[in-house]
Amino acid sequence: MAAHAAHSRRWFLSAGTARTPGLTISDACLARAGVVCQACGDACPERAIRFALRRGGPPLPDVDQDRCTACGACVPVCPVGAISLSENAQ
Ligand code: SF4
Ligand code: SF4
Repeated sequence: MAAHAAHSRRWFLSAGTARTPGLTISDACLARAGVVCQACGDACPERAIRFALRRGGPPLPDVDQDRCTACGACVPVCPVGAISLSENAQ
């Protein structure tokens, strides 16, 4: 049950702090504050960051851990430094 729930969360990362085994998007993300931003998705060569439409605000970034290679290309483009790679990434 718990394992299944964890597996299901891999794609849905818009609530609270988004996490993958290597990549973290914090609550500082502009999209969470109602500001349209998709800079990280534009920078990702693997198209691992997607933006799902939602009611009441701009799309939030969702990270596909299966696509993410932990290359770090999305980290410096974030205007608020909301993206970080954990120490076990890469
Ligand atoms: S670390 Fe690289 S592959 Fe992963 S989401 Fe960022 S840009 Fe994409
Ligand atoms: S670049 Fe930063 S602020 Fe913009 S959507 Fe990505 S995580 Fe959020």
